[in-house]
Amino acid sequence: MNDPTATSQATSAVSARAAQLASIPSFLRVEAYIREYGSRGHGQAPGCDFTFGNPHQMPAERYVNTLRDALTPQNDQWFAYQTNGEAAREAAAESLQRLLDVPFLPEDIYLTTGGFAAIALALKTVADPGDEVIYSLPPWFLYEPLVLEAGLVPVKVKINTTTFDLDLDAIEAAITERTRVVIVNSPNNPTGRVYPPELLLRLAEVLEAASVRIGRRIYLISDEPYNRIVFDGLRFHSPVEFYAHTLLAYSYGKTHLSPGQRVGYLALPPTMPHREEMAPAITSLQVAMGWVYPNALLQHALPELERFSISIDQLQRRRDRLVEELGGMGYRIWRPEGTFYLYVPSPIPDDEAFTASLARRDVFVLPGALFETPGFFRISLTANEDMIERSLPAFEAAMTESQR
Ligand code: PMP
Repeated sequence: MNDPTATSQATSAVSARAAQLASIPSFLRVEAYIREYGSRGHGQAPGCDFTFGNPHQMPAERYVNTLRDALTPQNDQWFAYQTNGEAAREAAAESLQRLLDVPFLPEDIYLTTGGFAAIALALKTVADPGDEVIYSLPPWFLYEPLVLEAGLVPVKVKINTTTFDLDLDAIEAAITERTRVVIVNSPNNPTGRVYPPELLLRLAEVLEAASVRIGRRIYLISDEPYNRIVFDGLRFHSPVEFYAHTLLAYSYGKTHLSPGQRVGYLALPPTMPHREEMAPAITSLQVAMGWVYPNALLQHALPELERFSISIDQLQRRRDRLVEELGGMGYRIWRPEGTFYLYVPSPIPDDEAFTASLARRDVFVLPGALFETPGFFRISLTANEDMIERSLPAFEAAMTESQR
């Protein structure tokens, strides 16, 4: 009688779980923004679109050629079912080794349809329904649906909004006997912060001590699709270097600014305890979750995709232009260390009113409210140079208006 599923089915065509997902407030707002701004820029006089991380420039020729080459069959199995293709796994492991100086093995790379599926796979590998998942606000706004879809309970803590660092005390205080996962995202969307190694080391110490205290292992999911998008020659450090119980989720969608081509992976470090127990669990989930392997074409392309990326210099120039210009106008802007994003304090407390004032001037950014952290707005550097130049008078006018 107390089964919510039964109640839902008596009164509704959709499952209780689907209804729950469809009513997440921040998710609903994101969807409304996608409807409103997501299709702008196709065709006539596009506004200055700084909303979602979609490209506003033609794809690189090398990227297109890589896909074209991967399309040419080299044997009769070219488009057969592909699981964790060996060549792709080897290329990904080798590249991660170079990036992080951790000796990843090909058999510990599980190919997925991008970062979304890698995170979902990681959650379902280690957590059972009812388990708690801690992550920090402002978050990537789609953690909540992924966590809820897996039957898990989101537990949200705040970052330090002055330094944009994780608040380790808040994370420690949020840990309960039900905690199973902590999600960390560095380089961070939306703040652009790259967490320093000392912070990651202290986080590892907190999780190690808490796991002992609660008598149950807490896993860390390192969501790092931007691990190649770092500026000023900074060296990226992954939590996986400090905490062996880390599942690393990666997507090629950022590295090649091609989020519609779905390819990524979940990787386990060679130091992960019980890897041999995890392997069959993960491969079973890859099938049972609906065949979340990337399609054959992208698997064939992957070794070549590892050899290049979008221009980091170009992104850095865009960042610098916006930071200098907006800073000069009086925005209290922080220079991000990586990712596509600038997370800027709103000149007025009501960030939605402020983003609306920019939108009236044909400049579209996302309010901090979407990231459950009001008082800020997010600018995406995936806007092109023309949009950036055209947006500057609007940023200036909106700032002037806010001071009236
Ligand atoms: N994590 C973060 C922090 C992201 O910003 C994104 C994409 N916006 C993802 C995961 C998912 O990446 P993909 O769409 O390539 O799967």
